[in-house]
Order: sequence, then structure tokens, then C-alpha cells
Amino acid sequence: MLEHLKEQPADKILSLTTAYRADPRPNKVDLGVGVYKDAEGHTPVMRAVKEAERRLVASQDTKVYTALSGDQVFIDAMVDLVLDGAVARGRVAGIATPGGTGAIRQALELIKLAAPSAKIWVSNPSWPNHASIINYLGMTRQDYRYFDEETRGLDFDGMIADLKTVAAGDVVLLHGCCHNPTGANPTADQWAVIIETVKAAGAVPLVDIAYQGFGDGLDEDAAATRAVAAAFPECLIAASCSKNFGIYRERTGILMAISDEAARTGITQGTLNFLNRQNYSFPPDHGARVVGMILTDPALRADWQAELEEVRLGMLGLRKQLADELRRLTNSDRFDFIAHHRGMFSRIGASPAQVEAMRADDAIYMVGDSRMNIAGLNARTIPLLAAAIVKAGA
Ligand code: PMP
Repeated sequence: MLEHLKEQPADKILSLTTAYRADPRPNKVDLGVGVYKDAEGHTPVMRAVKEAERRLVASQDTKVYTALSGDQVFIDAMVDLVLDGAVARGRVAGIATPGGTGAIRQALELIKLAAPSAKIWVSNPSWPNHASIINYLGMTRQDYRYFDEETRGLDFDGMIADLKTVAAGDVVLLHGCCHNPTGANPTADQWAVIIETVKAAGAVPLVDIAYQGFGDGLDEDAAATRAVAAAFPECLIAASCSKNFGIYRERTGILMAISDEAARTGITQGTLNFLNRQNYSFPPDHGARVVGMILTDPALRADWQAELEEVRLGMLGLRKQLADELRRLTNSDRFDFIAHHRGMFSRIGASPAQVEAMRADDAIYMVGDSRMNIAGLNARTIPLLAAAIVKAGA
């Protein structure tokens, strides 16, 4: 049996990390994998997470199974965090999932059950796992334009032109905030047009929100997701707690499925529970319980929000410093987009050859499509990166 297996393509970002680790050059800069790092290159456990874990260890007196949908405290708190009452709670079904990836996977499986021939529209580019999971499930994907290589901002006209061709019943996958990999995001006014266009097409939105709190703030980053949820009769939302709670390896996420009326929520919830049972029975609990504890304890929540805000402002500061340095070196404003992008990533628009030259000559490690993790920078490495970008002619 196993002799029929073929080698799977290596994950490009993980191979980049391996190459970075093997590089002996002391000035090397890792802008690859999408993990938040502080100025020392460390990914700390957030204070509120540590405290919630301490309390959990002290108080938990059983490890018996949870519900198929996961811990209800977590689900209720996350529905509040993401939606904040944008739709009637009775219309929202939810399951805990292994990370945002699990939520995306379950969302696609739900679509496959309900509308097997629906096409899934994905931004070009997008987080590579979107296309990968869609292909793996044998579903049909179509790209919509998203990024303007010239301005390195959103190709809004291209995006809307493509979304106008979406068929009724198709699904449009949207990044709720902090687009990965580009860092370019629609404005509130542009979101209104996107919503109107997808609605006019009769399509169903699937929102992936993996960086709430990393862009403009917790509520600001959820504004588009809330607007989408409020505007459509049906909507799917996959949210990840990996980044904003810093609990990557705990695998904590949620899939919300919003039905057009509360009377349908029971069946939707039952189907979500069924999907959890088919794939892994009970979802991981530890991270979900920690998140639930933090969000429902005012002091823990305040501390978490304060630390998340430090992280967010730190990344904004790095963006500004890098844009300023590039302004100084090039005597132009053509890299100002870096300061306008939001989230952990920016696609700087360098060619694969330029990305390779920066790696070979200057030990700068960014993904081949020129996505860089802003959190991988610090005051010492910003001038190195800026000089390398200019030298490579990006
Ligand atoms: N969606 C997007 C856009 C992402 O960037 C990520 C993380 N790389 C995820 C979903 C899922 O993250 P996780 O499964 O680690 O929660």
C-alpha cells in the first residue's frame, strides 16, 4: 500500500526556517514563518495565558471529554469577541477546532455537505493552505484579483470586477483583517462595496480572521467581519486564537456558522458537531479553556488586551521605521505602503530572483513571494533589511 505514496511538496516556509537555522552568518534575519517575535526574536507566552494556565492546573479536577462542540464558555466568549452582537446569538452555531486551520477545514467540509458543487473564490494571493485544503477536498477553487503589484496595495477594481462574476451559491473566502500574505486590506468604504457585490451575486461569505488585534485594534480588526455577518442571511467565520493569544501549538480556533433564521441553528449546530466527530471527535480543550478563562475574567482580559496592544503597536512602529529608512535611502515614497499595510506581513513586491539575492548576499530570509514577517525585525536589523532591499533593486 505505502509504495503508492508520492512525495508531498515540502512546505516552503518551513524549509526556509531550516535553511535559516543552518546559516552561520551572525547578521542573518529571519522574516519567514508567521509567528510573532519580540525584539530578541523570542515568542513569549502571554502573561494572561500563563496566569490562566496556572489557575487551570490548580483547579481542573478531571480530564473527561468535553462536548463535541468544545467548551461552551470558549464558544460564547469567542462569538462575542468576534461578532460583538452583530447578529442575533440564536443564529450562530459554533464549534471549537484545532486552530484556525481546523476551522477552515471544517468550514469547507460543511460547504461540501451542503453545496458540493459550490465554487470557492480565493484571493490571489492568499494563505497557501486555503488552496491546498480546497484541492485536497476535491472542491473547485477560483481566484479573484487582490494585489496590485505596482502600488503594492489592494487591486480594488480588479477584485470587484472578479467578484461580479461569482455565481449564486458560490462561496467567497475573505480575510477578515491583516491579509496574509500581502498586508494590504480594504478600507471600510471598500468593504461596503465588497459586501454589496458578493450579496448581489447571491454568494455566501466565508471569513477567515486569524489576526484580530494585530492590525488596528480588537474591535477595528473585527469591524469588517461584523459588517459581513450583519449583511448576509448566511455566513461562515473561521477564527484563530494562535496569534492574538500566542498559543500556536495549543491548536485553538472556532468555526461559526450563521443561519438565516434561529430555527435552523439546531441543524447547523448538529452538523458542525457531526463534522467534529468524523474528524477527531472532541476538539483540543486546553487552549480553548485558557481563552475562555481570559475572556470572561475582567482582570485577565484587561491584561491580555494590554499585552496584545503592546504587540500591535510594536509592529506598527517597526513598519514606520522601515518605511522611513527606505524613504531616506531611496529619496522617494515608493515604500510607504509598508507603513500602510496592516498585520504581521507585508509583500514588498520583490521578484523571486531579488528575494534569492537578499538571502544569498545579505542573509535576509523572506518567503519567495517577497512576504516578510514584520515581527522578525528590530531596530538593529531594519537598516540591514532596508539596505538589502535597495541593493537588490526591489
Ligand atoms: N488563516 C490565515 C490567513 C493564517 O495566516 C493562519 C495562520 N498561518 C491561519 C488561518 C491558521 O492558523 P492556525 O491554524 O495556526 O490557528
